[in-house]
Amino acid sequence: MKVKVLGIAQDGGVPHLGCRKSCCEGARKDPARRSRVSSVALCHVATGKRWIVDCTPDFPAQVDLLESDPKLPRREPREFCDGLLLTHAHIGHYAGLIHLGTEVMSAKEMPVWATARMGEFLTRNGPWGALVSSRQIALRALEPGKPVALAEGLSVTPFLVPHRDEYSDTVGFRIEGPRRRLVFLPDVDKWEKMATPLPALLEDAQVALLDGTFFSLEELPHRDITKVRHPLVTETLDLLRGRVAAGTLEVAFIHLNHTNPALDAASPERRRLEDAGFRVAREGEDFGL
Ligand SMILES: [Zn+2]
Ligand SMILES: [Zn+2]
Repeated sequence: MKVKVLGIAQDGGVPHLGCRKSCCEGARKDPARRSRVSSVALCHVATGKRWIVDCTPDFPAQVDLLESDPKLPRREPREFCDGLLLTHAHIGHYAGLIHLGTEVMSAKEMPVWATARMGEFLTRNGPWGALVSSRQIALRALEPGKPVALAEGLSVTPFLVPHRDEYSDTVGFRIEGPRRRLVFLPDVDKWEKMATPLPALLEDAQVALLDGTFFSLEELPHRDITKVRHPLVTETLDLLRGRVAAGTLEVAFIHLNHTNPALDAASPERRRLEDAGFRVAREGEDFGL
């Protein structure tokens, strides 16, 4: 059982449309510096079953990445995954569903787990509603706090988090395998707004993939601090430093904005987080469960 990282960038990816700064110009010249949008796959290696968490604008390339994993059995082309789990209705997290519609693969009842509010958003708004009415996707209910058993020894429990919830609510996932628990929380408002403080949320987890959208306020000189509605990487380091140093928790950042200097492996910011024992998630890497 494993979690495979399929992308690590914020909703706009890297290079980012409309950015001509070095962060994105470098990535345009060097494909190795490109980053796909934040997503992971949950894989049951023995049976080859797999589920993808969030359906990003990079979805087709991310399916290719998943299928290139030599440890996963080959599947029929149209059966590249056993379902999707969605965190919320921001474009980086569900817009890839367009590929399941009539214009592309016209999927047959692809299971899509979503909260009631997210499911309602998809059902009531075009073009997503057509996926539901033509049964290209089959919505399955996610209830916060209620585990979904995906396979024997693999369950996923959604938990509600505060976020900019215009269209849907937002969840993170606690993913439980036979050996380890991993918390996937790519997009969230400030940690102090959480109903459960972050250290308590991660108390029984061994791995966490966490919102690393922005590194620090220095990255956002023109933004009003009260309007930055993501935890800063520096704030997460302060909250979890003790557990990471003690070796009881592995933390990798995901959902990095194109401006985040930690995307650059040679940056002082990257060194700062790695010196504290944290990491930036890598596309294609596996976390055993
Ligand atoms: Zn996002
Ligand atoms: Zn979001």
